Amino acid sequence: MRVHLKTLGCRLNEAEIETWANDFSSSGHTLVDESASPDILVLNTCAVTQGAVRKSRQLVRKAHKKNPKAKLVVSGCYATLNEQETVSLEGVDLLVNNNQKDQLVKLTLENISEETMPSIATEPNENALFSRGRQRAFIKVQDGCRYRCSFCIVTVARGDEKSRHIKDIVLEINNIHQQGISEIVISGVHLGGYGSDINSDLFTLIQSILDQTTIPRVRMGSLEPWDLPAGFLQLFENPRLMPHMHLPVQSGSDSVLKRMSRRCKTDEFRTLVSQARRLIPNINITSDMIVGFPGETDGEWQQTLDFVKEMRLADLHIFTYSIRDGTKAATMSNQVQNDIKKQRSKTLHKLTQDIKYSTMQSFLGTTVDVLWEESQCANEYGSFTVFGYTPNYLRVKTTSDNSKALSNNIIPCTITSITDNVFNGLL
Ligand code: SF4
Repeated sequence: MRVHLKTLGCRLNEAEIETWANDFSSSGHTLVDESASPDILVLNTCAVTQGAVRKSRQLVRKAHKKNPKAKLVVSGCYATLNEQETVSLEGVDLLVNNNQKDQLVKLTLENISEETMPSIATEPNENALFSRGRQRAFIKVQDGCRYRCSFCIVTVARGDEKSRHIKDIVLEINNIHQQGISEIVISGVHLGGYGSDINSDLFTLIQSILDQTTIPRVRMGSLEPWDLPAGFLQLFENPRLMPHMHLPVQSGSDSVLKRMSRRCKTDEFRTLVSQARRLIPNINITSDMIVGFPGETDGEWQQTLDFVKEMRLADLHIFTYSIRDGTKAATMSNQVQNDIKKQRSKTLHKLTQDIKYSTMQSFLGTTVDVLWEESQCANEYGSFTVFGYTPNYLRVKTTSDNSKALSNNIIPCTITSITDNVFNGLL
């Protein structure tokens, strides 16, 4: 689909549309000018002054007038503080609250179109998985992948595995820490393969980062659930390595995994998850699933549902399979019909939501450390809504009269309730 993004207001709004632009591109969509008849128009609004409110309203009206066929997605402070008014503006198809901004692309694709597989598996997950911002940065430590999963174009697009040297990575982390970043996400196309080309490994890299930097939070990006070096899980004994692992499994059926040419069977995944849960307190394990892979039978689909129920992963990124030219899967017979893929995707979304909610419930009443973000929106009484993440990457919201004191600091709060997949926390 063709997507156009537009923003009003502060630099944070600009940074957000940059992130969304990356996310849309990684999901296989094309960014276009407004004149190129976009299918989706995303507007990031502002409410810092009455003038900004007026301009935001006009922006929405004009956008719809110029592009009556485009689906309109509105986010930002004006939309968040004036929900009723925004949804009643002609042409608005979806409102994404500020508290769901990091999920905007996912919500847009879920609500406005069918989600499709990213063109390059694994790497784009970092964009979809973790929100950026002034408190968090991504450190790319390797590129390329030695495997050829049959749905993935990465080997063709990125070539052999190439790792950066530890001393360069450490230097970069120390620099950005000095600039005020509090959390890094270690990312790569096939992270588990880090070091294969330079006589090193992921264990040595993470141990060196923990030893040679003092950045408060180190987080692992998406990790294929194999090739993890010996002793890797023990690294999480260091409280600076955040207890969250995103392990893309892609299916709960061994026969589908075989057709996908994956290197991890369900039993191996089971073992890895149970070891991690045994060794790492409060570990949050999330994953990816591809729905409707070629030839996926009703029986194989049921195996996936049963596996998801059994594993109780706290969140799943669900992609509907789509043909990628140049991949082996594109040439496979028995492509699954669209209406079946759609139905399966819907079922899996519902199941995932139920599991996520019950996982979150288990944290009610606990006190957790939160790295708080910046807040732009004050309500009429001058209080700010501030968002942040727990160590295991669950989103928390609180209210504060002094959002600056929270911003980019790790301050504990007590979890009191859950609204729309976000914890409400009391400072
Ligand atoms: S492991 Fe498979 S899915 Fe992951 S990047 Fe390599 S080829 Fe792609």
